[in-house]
Amino acid sequence: MAGSMDAQWEDAMAEALALARTLLPDAAPQVSQPQVSGLTAAPGGADRLGENGELGAGCGLGQANGFGAGHGLGDVPVGAVVFGPDGLIIGRGINQRETLADPVAHAEIVALRAASSKLGRWRLDGCSLVVTLEPCAMCAGALIAARIDRLIFGAWDAKAGACGSVWDLPRDRASPHHPEVTGGVMAQACGALLTEFFASRR
Ligand SMILES: [Zn+2]
Repeated sequence: MAGSMDAQWEDAMAEALALARTLLPDAAPQVSQPQVSGLTAAPGGADRLGENGELGAGCGLGQANGFGAGHGLGDVPVGAVVFGPDGLIIGRGINQRETLADPVAHAEIVALRAASSKLGRWRLDGCSLVVTLEPCAMCAGALIAARIDRLIFGAWDAKAGACGSVWDLPRDRASPHHPEVTGGVMAQACGALLTEFFASRR
């Protein structure tokens, strides 16, 4: 099972990278949200979150990670995907803080906005958010406010993580909503992308 999951993940990663390159060309002056949110589910159902929840999550993470890696615009490569109640992707986002000079343009926020716009409602109950890095306090607050059912993330963020590392907002007793949290999924692969990014800037 582990082997096939790796292969699936690599396929999803390669697919996502190719997709990201076509959507986000190197010379793009600005990456606006509609370009990111206009995507639909990839053929073959590899990004379906359902019966094979874990595998779907892995593929989602791979896609999210590749999506973040593909844009190459100087932003820390973090990618996020929102799966709708039917298990299909309804929103994707990459961190665009530098690109848009926007302090709140984290991958999760971009993906949540895309998903809400697609469903036509702010409530995202029944939906899952998959992201390559543990959400920060702002994003954890946003996904709680959106009533996301389930959060799955890759690498832990020991400096700013708000889903179990520094804070634990989803499980805080004072929080109005408590999404189910699965952290550290494919943490090594997701973390490697960030390590490479920071090493390349030194
Ligand atoms: Zn954040």
